[in-house]
Amino acid sequence: MRLARPTKIEWLVIGVMLAVLVALMPPTPHHRETRLESCHLCGNCRRIVREFRWWRFSSETTEPVETFTVDEDHEHDWWQYASYYISYNMKSAGGAPYRYQDGRNTWTPSTP
Ligand SMILES: [Zn+2]
Repeated sequence: MRLARPTKIEWLVIGVMLAVLVALMPPTPHHRETRLESCHLCGNCRRIVREFRWWRFSSETTEPVETFTVDEDHEHDWWQYASYYISYNMKSAGGAPYRYQDGRNTWTPSTP
């Protein structure tokens, strides 16, 4: 008894199965974490985006969301009010009910 070699039809079936497997494979595993932070002392808000590819840290960017002028010696008291998590197979979001640590949603600069 000898092992039958795959026929043309069988090769075709194998090829189709491989094509289906490749089509079903998830794209490059990546995820992105977004943190939204505010400083209740000066009203500034910023967004920090961290990108991961193949579960390895890839890049981090910080962009201002709200910009108020601050004194040169001001030290921000960053507080996270929201965060998002997006990956190739899941999504989540969470956040505080208000934007600033002291419970405010808007911040108006105090006029001297
Ligand atoms: Zn500040």
